[in-house]
Amino acid sequence: MSIASMMRRLPVLLVLLPCAVAWGQGPAPESEILFREVRVLDTVRGTLGEPTDVLVRGNRIAALGADTPRSESAEVIEGRGRTLMPGLIDAHWHSTFTALSQAAMTAPDAKPESLAATVAAESGRTLMRGFTSVRDVGGPVFELKAAIDAGEVAGPRIWPSGATVSQTSGHGDMRLPHERSRRFFGKPSLAEDMGATFIADGRDEVLTAVRENLRMGASQIKLMAGGGTSSAYDPLDVTQYTLDEMRAAVEAAEDWGTYVTVHAYTVRAVRRAIEAGVKCIEHGQLLDEDTLALMARQGVWLSTQTLRPSTEAMDPLRREKRKPVIEGQARTIAAARRAGVRMAWGTDFLFEPELNVEQNAFILGLRDWFTPAEILRMVTHDNAELLALSGLRSPYQGRLGVVEVGALADLLLVEGDPLENLDLIADPARNFAVIVKDGRVVKGE
Ligand SMILES: [Zn+2]
Repeated sequence: MSIASMMRRLPVLLVLLPCAVAWGQGPAPESEILFREVRVLDTVRGTLGEPTDVLVRGNRIAALGADTPRSESAEVIEGRGRTLMPGLIDAHWHSTFTALSQAAMTAPDAKPESLAATVAAESGRTLMRGFTSVRDVGGPVFELKAAIDAGEVAGPRIWPSGATVSQTSGHGDMRLPHERSRRFFGKPSLAEDMGATFIADGRDEVLTAVRENLRMGASQIKLMAGGGTSSAYDPLDVTQYTLDEMRAAVEAAEDWGTYVTVHAYTVRAVRRAIEAGVKCIEHGQLLDEDTLALMARQGVWLSTQTLRPSTEAMDPLRREKRKPVIEGQARTIAAARRAGVRMAWGTDFLFEPELNVEQNAFILGLRDWFTPAEILRMVTHDNAELLALSGLRSPYQGRLGVVEVGALADLLLVEGDPLENLDLIADPARNFAVIVKDGRVVKGE
């Protein structure tokens, strides 16, 4: 079953998303929440402070310290020595395609309304897992984001890429076998129609595709620079886009103050991307030490995953194509750490909704290479720094990933000390007693 054939069901999805969940808008500017006697996780230093008070006013952290003055109407949450930490961030998420299985999308009786409701419900569950921000790196997302921001649907803050930008026969060419090239035959494919991808060749088309996404509010641009495991027509080893095409994307993004991130595994693809001015590499599991050292020198980010070995249930083609990626993962993450590459973490779940409940547990996979302090820093502070690369195109201005005065109030009250016991974050239902997003309690006691 190809990805393209699943998308047949989705074109109407977009208009249906704002569903009837009354979730409410952000807090009033003067509303207050006081966390009493919490131990604040310093995500930069990897330490836990002595019990203190934290005051949230509006959607920001207003004050830290005992005896913080607060208004009469402040909502008081007793911390009793529990940990207060920033909300989690997933730097590689696909809001729509993580929610839907191949079976759901291809079922003869699949209704766009129910698919839309499934996507909206999953975004609510993502927030309940403590993920208060995600970077969406491909797929229809702008309507979902608008619905969340308007308070109509529960969900995390979303940094949207919009449709991926791919060359013909590239990783984002998700056409059905019978669908012919738009350029020669005049008709966009279903995947293009629904906002999953742009198939764009040559400088001009790449510029238009990038600018279409920017017009819709993309905070960064996702471009396909090499072969993929979940696509049918491009072998893993191939390099995609000429240097000039990739430069065109970077020019258009940089003129809007933001950046291009690329899907790429191989040395050749990544070196070309760096030469074109790309600022972030998604995946990179086939990189060598020299290329990682080059990334470190140039300040290019590696957005990594903690992929698990392929399952029997997986599409056989995808399972086969994933083998070298899985094998390369342990080696490249260790080498990237040694080289001092700036690293972010994300799940990259795709069409496997049964994995979503393990979004937190996948963080624990980082323990093969990092200490709990480094891991907690990566999934909060470091991921937030990657989000901040969007500059003025960031949809939510303000600091994230830290519990500091002036930062946006995305907070988790955790039962216990995650530095001591990182497993705590893998069971959010039990261990995240309170979740605050944008200064509003979305889960509480
Ligand atoms: Zn992905």
